[in-house]
Parts: sequence; structure tokens; C-alpha cells
Amino acid sequence: MSSHAGAVSQLVDRLSQLPGIGRKSAERLAFHLLRVREDEALALADAIRRVRTDVRYCADCYNLSEKELCQICADPKRDQSRLCVVEQPRDLLSLEASGAYKGLYHVLLGRIAPLDGVTPDQLTIDALVDRVRTGNFSEIIMATNPTVEGDGTSLYLSNQLAEFPVEITRLARGITAGSVLEYANREIIADALTGRQKL
Ligand SMILES: [Zn+2]
Repeated sequence: MSSHAGAVSQLVDRLSQLPGIGRKSAERLAFHLLRVREDEALALADAIRRVRTDVRYCADCYNLSEKELCQICADPKRDQSRLCVVEQPRDLLSLEASGAYKGLYHVLLGRIAPLDGVTPDQLTIDALVDRVRTGNFSEIIMATNPTVEGDGTSLYLSNQLAEFPVEITRLARGITAGSVLEYANREIIADALTGRQKL
């Protein structure tokens, strides 16, 4: 067991709670932070503080934003007639990186996962339905992940949106079933966008 001073072992504990960081990596990171210049280490602490105090969810699409509206929602050049529904802000980033999409987004902040206790009311579905009701969208693109839960979420949403005069499509399956948007490369995502099909 470690016999580090209190502050160090506290840092190791905190770091080892992060996803993908085991005890050994946490120790390595902690000692790294002790070795680098003080201002460098404190810049990390500051970045963590800023991301939690300055970043919030966009009032329209639930993307991460430092202002009330995110850069995408605030950009009048985006195609206001298309809305692409994703699970997480990081999925939005993957789609943006593909450069193949110029419309707006809606971030669900999760997917329906009954086994994990995630029910529709815990996602931003009401806000999505409101947006579609009051907006002028001609197409809603379901870009949830091609997993059982992602597909189930898409299906649930398309039922919720069935009463509106919009076309509902989903990404083409260039993305292998079970793989996750976050890890797909931009060419695959661009193909999936161009080849999208009616849901
Ligand atoms: Zn937004």
C-alpha cells in the first residue's frame, strides 16, 4: 500500500476514479504533476475548474457551451431545416469533424437504457419534441449509436415525432453495428451521413 503524504495519496485516489485510469496510472500522473513546473500543474487544476464553472449546456440543443447558445446554434449560416439527434456532445464533435453536415443538432445527453435505469424522461426528449413542434425542420436525422440501446432510442423518438410533418432518417450503416460514433473515423461518418436512409 502507498505511504505517500496525505495530499499525494488524495490526488492518486481522485485520479484513479477517472474512467480508464487504474491505480498505477494514477500514481504515475500524480508524480508527473509533482515533477513538472508548478504553473503547468496549476494550469490543469484551473482548466478543470473552468470547465465546471464556465461550461454549461446550450439552451437550444444541449451541446456544451460557454454562452447561452452554442456556436452552432448561434451560427445563422447553419442549415436551419435539418436537425441531427445525437446521444452525447462528443458524438456531435465526431459528426462536426467529418465536415459533411451543416445543419443543427440536438443532444439527448444519453440513450434510453432500461437495464441501467435510464428512462426517456431523463433525456432531453421533451425539449426535442418542442423544437420539432415549433421549428421549421424538414428532416430529423437519427444519429444515435448503432447499438441495441441507440437503435431503441431512435425508434422511440421516431414514434414521438411521428405526428409532425418531417422526414425522419437515420445514418447509413457504414458504421458497423455495435461500434460507436465517437471512435468512427471521419470518412466513415461522412459516408454514413451522405447515405442516410428513411427510418
Ligand atoms: Zn446549441
